[in-house]
Amino acid sequence: MLKSMIFLLLLTVGTAVASDKAPPLQKQYPLDRVAENVYVVHGPRELPNPGNQGFMNNPSFIVAEKGVVVIDPGGTVQTGEMLLTHLRNVTDKPVVAVFNTHIHGDHWLGNQAIVEAYPDAVIYAHPRTIEQVKGGEGANWVDLMARLTEGASAGTRVVGPERPADEGDRIQAAGLTFRILHNDRAHTDTDIMILAEEPGVLYLGDNAGNARILRMQHGSFRGNIEALERAAASGAKVFVPGHGPSGGVEVATSYRDYLAMVYETVREGYDEGKADFEIRPALLPRLAPWNDWAGFEHELGPHISTAFLEAEAADFE
Ligand SMILES: [Zn+2]
Repeated sequence: MLKSMIFLLLLTVGTAVASDKAPPLQKQYPLDRVAENVYVVHGPRELPNPGNQGFMNNPSFIVAEKGVVVIDPGGTVQTGEMLLTHLRNVTDKPVVAVFNTHIHGDHWLGNQAIVEAYPDAVIYAHPRTIEQVKGGEGANWVDLMARLTEGASAGTRVVGPERPADEGDRIQAAGLTFRILHNDRAHTDTDIMILAEEPGVLYLGDNAGNARILRMQHGSFRGNIEALERAAASGAKVFVPGHGPSGGVEVATSYRDYLAMVYETVREGYDEGKADFEIRPALLPRLAPWNDWAGFEHELGPHISTAFLEAEAADFE
């Protein structure tokens, strides 16, 4: 009797845990082929919400001779599983490596799905990403995602990167070569850009958005501009931004031009002794090419403030 009650109890607990995982992504997101053997699911260009279930980035995979390499498998376990469904329609080769472009969880919380399916997959990221995830940022992102999606990310847990990838590294995975570019501080202080040499595809991470302006609270305008100069000179043919459509070199240069326009205009204003709110009217017409991009209204104020502080700090260098 007692035994069967315990058994029933365990069964109930087991069911409760299983049903704690939120359902798969409800919308269909097409798989885009951006180069030979290189695929991207271009996610929604909005912030995480119940409708997109926390999916908002550009998860990607490359099919190579000795396996599959995944880049930024998304912000929830559900997004990672959606990517795997696409992947299995293309190949039955295993995922052997994953790259995470930076600390923001909308790019890497999907690691969980990859590792659950392929426990031997090695996950690479900048050493500061590895450190910050362990230091609590991973848990913060799980909570933030759950709040923004009102529970649609439930079941997602922290599976952080373990293997460092830093400036100048050339990493072999699945028979391909990946060159790592890191600029100390750009979108954050954790960004790596990843050049898949053979297909000539450069993953920009959030150093660039396309048709989307990205937040920049812990970044550096000058560092981000410099990173995109390097991206443009990398020789890549295809550029995959952190958010928005992939394309040619213009994906890197357009975002560079936006950042440079904000920074230079704010610096001019600062040099003339203006306050940050007085600079906005001069800046707005200059940003006309980008003013219909997602996030433009939302980020303009914070971007001016960040650029202003950076211009001020530059005075003391
Ligand atoms: Zn980011």
